[in-house]
Amino acid sequence: MQQFEAVNTAGRILLGPGPSGVHPRVLRAFSMPTIGHLDPEFLGIMNATKQMLQHVFGTANELTIPISGTGSAGMETALVNFIEPGDRVLICISGLFGQRMADVASRCGAQVDTIEVPWGQSVQPDQVEEALAEAEAKGGRVKLVGIVHAETSTGVLQPVAEVAKIAHAHGALIVVDAVTSLGGAPVDVDANDLDIVYSGTQKCLSCPPGLAPLTVGRRGLDVLRARSTKVQSWYLDLTMLMAYWGAERFYHHTAPVNMIYALHESLRLIVEEGLEARYARHRLHAEALKAGLEGMGLALFAQEGFRAPMLTTVTVPEGIDEVAARKRLLAQYGIEIGGGLGPLKGKIFRIGLMGYSCTKTNVMLILTGLAEALAAQGFNADGRAALEAAAVVYEASA
Ligand SMILES: *Cc1c(COP(=O)(O)O)cnc(C)c1O
Repeated sequence: MQQFEAVNTAGRILLGPGPSGVHPRVLRAFSMPTIGHLDPEFLGIMNATKQMLQHVFGTANELTIPISGTGSAGMETALVNFIEPGDRVLICISGLFGQRMADVASRCGAQVDTIEVPWGQSVQPDQVEEALAEAEAKGGRVKLVGIVHAETSTGVLQPVAEVAKIAHAHGALIVVDAVTSLGGAPVDVDANDLDIVYSGTQKCLSCPPGLAPLTVGRRGLDVLRARSTKVQSWYLDLTMLMAYWGAERFYHHTAPVNMIYALHESLRLIVEEGLEARYARHRLHAEALKAGLEGMGLALFAQEGFRAPMLTTVTVPEGIDEVAARKRLLAQYGIEIGGGLGPLKGKIFRIGLMGYSCTKTNVMLILTGLAEALAAQGFNADGRAALEAAAVVYEASA
């Protein structure tokens, strides 16, 4: 067998749609010695992690745990446990992750109704009201409404609290994808009366990818208990996971011990900073970035009034090779940003300012780097105006 080199990456400045930069304290926690998943010391770490997750989600829900797997495992858990074959669900689609939700729901055997809006726009609460009323008029009760909070494929933040009210008025559960929003914008599960919410560790929680925090409220638990069929997924069956994370500590699967150390430390950092301060930081740098991009002569892509703070989308100017521009940013500056997905391939850049990556230094750096990468292709990008526009935002906040 050939000998391979040890992994020795120099690291990157992660300003894409995730993963985001990871604080050195989180990496240090990750590298602590692995101990047994039923070791009393580890049980203490599990309990503390649960408590801090409840704080960040804004919930008193007892069932608040990290699912072993990335954000998509959270999505699958949030659907497979509450859908039984033949159930009718309504999924709001404004981008790739809404589409994925509809796909997962259909694999759970649901009859899937959808609301689809053009990518870059937000689903409106009226549309949800109409769709639910229409289903009822036809004699079909919708059991669950699914919606993505921050749609990472488009940079749109959707009005989940309003949609939750409408869902409840029609007797439906609300399932919210907060993979990108949690830790960067208020999710406020209890205040917004959200039933089932999941996230991922590598976006605004600024942890390596590998866990999917999830919380389930009373309505969700009632639906889970009333199931007449077994949950199709053994690994993601919450009835068994509850017993593992609960007082019984009933063995189900081996928790990814070191990933939980890392999540524990990233949550400690969030608690230290304070949620309000953290949201304010994400708002400030997002505003500076957006001002800078417009100052450069670029057009923001997401619908005004619905722009997510942690992920900014910007239209690629005519004639610019988007892939080449991103390659140049990576080669010249060590910066990673994202391109468009699906119908937006080649048409937008996606710039994330998430968690540890969300700093003034990174805002000024990406504005400089992007102006240079666009200028290299002959686009008249005004880098100086970009930095000035961002500086105005910072001065106003000082
Ligand atoms: C990243 C993301 C996911 C999927 O998470 P993975 O960790 O890639 O599995 C789901 N929903 C949204 C909104 C995301 O941004």
